[in-house]
Amino acid sequence: MLLSKAEATAKKILSEFGLNEIGILTSTELQTIIQARGAYYEEVELDSMDGRIVTFNGKSVISINKNIVGTGKKRFTAAHELGHFELHKNIQPPADTQYELCNWYQSGSHEKEANDFASELLMPTHLFIQECKGKKFGPQLIKQLAETFQVTHTAIILKILKANVHPVCVIATKKNKIKWWKLSQSMESADHEFIPGWTKYKLRITSNLPPPPDSVMGQFFKSNKSLETLQEIDKSTWFLTHPQDNLVMLEYCNYIRDYDFGLSVVWED
Ligand SMILES: [Zn+2]
Repeated sequence: MLLSKAEATAKKILSEFGLNEIGILTSTELQTIIQARGAYYEEVELDSMDGRIVTFNGKSVISINKNIVGTGKKRFTAAHELGHFELHKNIQPPADTQYELCNWYQSGSHEKEANDFASELLMPTHLFIQECKGKKFGPQLIKQLAETFQVTHTAIILKILKANVHPVCVIATKKNKIKWWKLSQSMESADHEFIPGWTKYKLRITSNLPPPPDSVMGQFFKSNKSLETLQEIDKSTWFLTHPQDNLVMLEYCNYIRDYDFGLSVVWED
């Protein structure tokens, strides 16, 4: 897999610290790397933001909101700010909220680069692929990967797409409006078998319109009740169909109520 500049930078840092093959970065190692690279790390009270980096007179301070709930979110935010430090030396990135951290493909190129960096630092692609090998795809795997790599479910879903470990479609919705979607590329399996990507599938959705009402995501936005996050759906819910198509698909929706933001993964069982 071809690495972007941001991913290659993360990989280089891991290898400089001799951590490339060891496995998953601990939170202490992450803080040590940040300090060793030359930025000051602190966990403080921050008003309505998760993290920020401030550079003044050549000194950078990475501040993470100490009230962030969940190790995964805190780690990803810290790695994201380190990404800004490594990649965007001459700009002052805006403060980061969870929305920038989730809304990967829409938050501008600097935010995407910082997220790509964080993703590769905390979930090195070769280790991620290894962890997925031979396992059945589904919410259970997403949960297991989130525990192994100590990151959020959102970060795992986006890594699944990026590392191309299983053919899926990922759709992001904010305030009941579709923001972006991505389909898996074609891939070669571990046994060198060709697995066609999903770019052959045509989605029947429009940007900035609500998700289909019968999709799991659509149900989340309609209802305040807690819902089954995994459901069997008909292919025609999201895609244009042909008579010979297998119509059964699965949809798993990870909905963050605080941000009114949903990320759906759709796949064939
Ligand atoms: Zn950022």
